[in-house]
Amino acid sequence: MPALQPVRGTQDLLPLQMRRHRAVSETARVVALRYGFEEMATPIFEFTEVFQKPIGETSDIVSKEMYSFADRGGEHVTLRPENTAGVVRAVLSNGLTQAAPLKFFYSGPMFRYERPQKGRFRQFHQIGVELIGVAQPQADVEVIAAGARILDELGILGRTELELNTLGDTETRRLYREHLVAYYAGFRDKLSEDSLRRLETNPLRILDSKDPGDIAINIEAPEFHRHLNPLSTAFFDAVKRGLDALGIAYRLNPRLVRGLDYYTHTAFEFVTRDLGAQGTVMGGGRYDGLVGLMGGPEMAGVGWAAGIERLAMLIEEPAVAERPVAIIPVGEAAEPVALRLAEDLRRAGLVVDQSYSGNLGKRMKRANKVAARFAVLLGEDELARGVASLRDLDSGAQEEVPLAGLTDRLVQTR
Ligand code: ATP
Ligand code: MG
Repeated sequence: MPALQPVRGTQDLLPLQMRRHRAVSETARVVALRYGFEEMATPIFEFTEVFQKPIGETSDIVSKEMYSFADRGGEHVTLRPENTAGVVRAVLSNGLTQAAPLKFFYSGPMFRYERPQKGRFRQFHQIGVELIGVAQPQADVEVIAAGARILDELGILGRTELELNTLGDTETRRLYREHLVAYYAGFRDKLSEDSLRRLETNPLRILDSKDPGDIAINIEAPEFHRHLNPLSTAFFDAVKRGLDALGIAYRLNPRLVRGLDYYTHTAFEFVTRDLGAQGTVMGGGRYDGLVGLMGGPEMAGVGWAAGIERLAMLIEEPAVAERPVAIIPVGEAAEPVALRLAEDLRRAGLVVDQSYSGNLGKRMKRANKVAARFAVLLGEDELARGVASLRDLDSGAQEEVPLAGLTDRLVQTR
């Protein structure tokens, strides 16, 4: 029988990998808190309509990447492909719009039916922040700064570059769209099939195409920043000034359009060269139209999401939290004493590895395998004298310590 395999595009997070993931999400959570983003979570599945309209029928996500199904009660639900729509849905469901500004941090699994490759999975994980209800460019700056700080604390800011663009306001986008359509109309015979479809539905997305032919056509495409209205220009200038003031370096990338339809003004990505084709580790922007689109009041918003798998590949291997103490009973009579001692040490906050069977040699091997810092050897004659042998597994030094004082002694050596 062939071994059971996980579903294509999903993967197990064994402890080593999990440690990397945890380091990313925990660092992000702690840093985000410093910026005032509080952690929240939404369900990993929602009614399909929560994603459909906000993300856009013509987006790759809605048109071909969603895990949607009818549940046993006939409800049409979708495993979340991203979390911004879910967070906004939660804001509306919980009547939080009056409490703005709202600042949230989240972390968790997302699902997209994509072709799996390095750094691209069908179940992947994101961290993200959302700042809802602030229309000022300071919000964009704060959100980007929080992202940069997280990357810095993960030790990888220097391996990334911040790319920045503006998508302007709605008026600017409408006018620009007209220019684009006119330009691409001259390349109908050369555009990829996908982009031909986008030309009808969402021409801005052609700029985002990964098709080599489209990329060549895009080189001469009208540049968005030439069509910005004064309001949009002023907004973008303020964002850039803020980043300059914080010493956050960026590169203007006029071709940066985000995959999702509800973005306005600021769009940004932190990209790296160290992950091959899947180089975007964090992406975000302003989504002033989203809350209104989802049935709420007109309300500004800005945020980002970052792929934990991609970040986890970039960081140094995180240190193991704490090396354990190995408790090694020798002989039947020592077993219950070992059990109690292990429990005492754990209550005192120490990490304890208990060996379950085998002779002294086998148990010592296990202690080494788990990289124990100390071994506590409990022999019957030692127990009779109320002591245990404490062995320092780094130096090899061994001494007898009264059982009663063992916990304190080990706590002190931490
Ligand atoms: P890409 O261009 O790589 O497809 P995207 O624009 O679809 O990215 P977003 O929707 O902005 O990505 O999601 C934010 C981040 O989540 C990405 O920058 C990336 O780090 C991560 N991400 C997105 N899709 C996947 C995936 N299928 N597997 C792993 N990580 C992903
Ligand atoms: Mg994608």
